Amino acid sequence: MTADPALRARDPATLTEAEAAAELAALAAEIAHHDALYHGKDAPEISDAAYDALVLRNRAIEARFPALIRADSPSRRVGAAAAEGFAKSRHGEPMLSLNNVFSEEEFAEFCASIRRFLGLPAEEKLPFVAEPKIDGLSINLLYEHGAFAKGATRGDGMEGEDVTQNLLTIPSLPKRLRAPYPARIEIRGEVFMDKADFLAFRAAQERAFEEREQRRARGEKLGEAIVIPANPRNAAAGSVRQLDPRITASRPLKLFAYAMGAASEPPADSHHEFLARLKHWGFAVNPLSKRLASEQEAAAFQRSIGEQRASLAYDIDGVVYKIDRLDWQRRLGFVGRAPRWATAWKFPAEQATTRLLDIEIQVGRTGALTPRAVMQPVTVGGVVVRHATLHNEDEIARKDIRIGDTVILQRAGDVIPQILGVVLEKRPRDARPFVFPDHCPVCGSHAIRDGEDVVRRCTGGLICAAQTVERLKHFASRRAMDIEGLGEENIQILFDRDLVHSPAEIFRLHQHREKLLALEGWGDRKVGKLLDAIEARRHVPLERFIFALGIRRIGEQNAKLLARHYHTLEEWRAKMIAAHVVGSEAREELGSIQGIGPAIAEELVEFFAEPRALAALDDLAREAPPLPAEAAGASDSPFAGKTMVFTGTLETMTRDEAEAQAERLGAKVTKSVSKKTDFVVVGTDAGSKATKAAELGVRILTEAEWRQMAAL
Ligand SMILES: [Zn+2]
Repeated sequence: MTADPALRARDPATLTEAEAAAELAALAAEIAHHDALYHGKDAPEISDAAYDALVLRNRAIEARFPALIRADSPSRRVGAAAAEGFAKSRHGEPMLSLNNVFSEEEFAEFCASIRRFLGLPAEEKLPFVAEPKIDGLSINLLYEHGAFAKGATRGDGMEGEDVTQNLLTIPSLPKRLRAPYPARIEIRGEVFMDKADFLAFRAAQERAFEEREQRRARGEKLGEAIVIPANPRNAAAGSVRQLDPRITASRPLKLFAYAMGAASEPPADSHHEFLARLKHWGFAVNPLSKRLASEQEAAAFQRSIGEQRASLAYDIDGVVYKIDRLDWQRRLGFVGRAPRWATAWKFPAEQATTRLLDIEIQVGRTGALTPRAVMQPVTVGGVVVRHATLHNEDEIARKDIRIGDTVILQRAGDVIPQILGVVLEKRPRDARPFVFPDHCPVCGSHAIRDGEDVVRRCTGGLICAAQTVERLKHFASRRAMDIEGLGEENIQILFDRDLVHSPAEIFRLHQHREKLLALEGWGDRKVGKLLDAIEARRHVPLERFIFALGIRRIGEQNAKLLARHYHTLEEWRAKMIAAHVVGSEAREELGSIQGIGPAIAEELVEFFAEPRALAALDDLAREAPPLPAEAAGASDSPFAGKTMVFTGTLETMTRDEAEAQAERLGAKVTKSVSKKTDFVVVGTDAGSKATKAAELGVRILTEAEWRQMAAL
């Protein structure tokens, strides 16, 4: 729908209801269109300001005509789209997880615990409903007065993502329930992709990926990134979590319903009656679901489903057994986050055997030498597997894995395949034990193991090409500097052609435009776009900058902690160099940062003690100085900018929560009390920290005083 320009020019306050409805429809379509372009990072058609104006206009009209707010209103998506893509949606009742059993004995123990809990005599049978457990995406569907009102992913169990618009595109999802129905009810189900649909979809994605790579080689516009899903579950989850519902609509998704959340009135007395109601309302229910008169029937059912598993249209990983009587379910309740009245009896993970052709050594960013198995391709659980991780040299020795061996592979869920062991009877005479290299296969430096470390690392550091390339890939990657167009492949090309050896040189690439243009397939447009993208990321927040350096053990979380604590690169650099002296004030300060343990402190100090690393950092800092970290939280809080320690047990909140609150108010939370500490909040059973605070004259707060000052 396109906007009527005359209507668009009008002040919202002067619109009639019919005009407002037309305008809201046009705005919804336009904003969705721009969102899709923006999400793909693919040439937005309008400026951010013009986009914001559309959003504000939509909001203004909605404020005047609340009755006209559309189901697909941008105001329900836009705010969240900025942050994570979807609005959060709280479930009426938590979506819990299931405990697992793996054997007949464990299932018998599960039944015995139910009997003990309910105090049932031995002769009382336990009726169950058994349902194949589909490997898909769990969702929660809210129906109000029989109409589908909202759908959300499971999320953390309490709160998921609102994917209503996407779920509406699934043909087997009833938009209206067939009467009679409760006024309000939450239905739980699984969105999944059939195996055949998955294979076809995956093949199509692979083709699209190839085409995109060819466009990349020709320097043409790329369009959205193509994700090749590893398994049907990823495919289903990725499809439902698309920002553009049209993409979801194009995916072959199905839905089975199997449970209930909050309901205004109980729709049945037993689970099998509830499943019958689901069918009546219009849901697809797994046809293999079956009521079992007693627990004695479970083992036979488990075997029967196990035998059918390979021939089923969809992937399953076990069978769920639920107590059929809902009154018993209520009495049994929950333990932790799982119901006492249900369990998932899982099938063993899928296995296959194949020949080990070779073992390759890969060198990572931190110099770790990782062995990787190269195998004769084999299908495990519908996925073709050629490589498996072997973790480290001890693992190879422990399992006595030799090249030429027939190995047993296992794939459980989406976990990377593992080699469980070797079929010794099939070992050929010429099978060779693998000798783990004591030199880096790339730079030839010694590769050594430090103390307890199971990992062998290249000592080549900055002279090791493999480490250098991996560090550059990390530096430019999305979570680090996020330089668009500087993916792993291009980094490798720039490194191989001697154009980039260090992070700083990325920011000097503009001096080598001619050399870039001389690269095969690098046209004017592609080079211009890349240089623009580099320019756009010349000044990033300090936390990104620190993370991008790729220092061992400094992940995003630790980088954030360091940035918040030291604020500027200069301060951080000076303190890290000073911290080289054990026992120095700077070392104590580093150790006092909540979340920075001794091993992390050690890595930081070592990094700054290495002259070449420091020179590379300074070179980078001259080219691309980072933005100082913003002081977190409200500046008017008495805790803003103060250093705080919490000790002892708090009554009204956990210490974790209190520390998080303090950080939100702009405080620095540390673990130990020093003369730099401004406040110590003392709970019950506070020990030496409270004593030390008193000695140093640091202000001590009770929990009540802290709450009052923090306005909690
Ligand atoms: Zn090396």
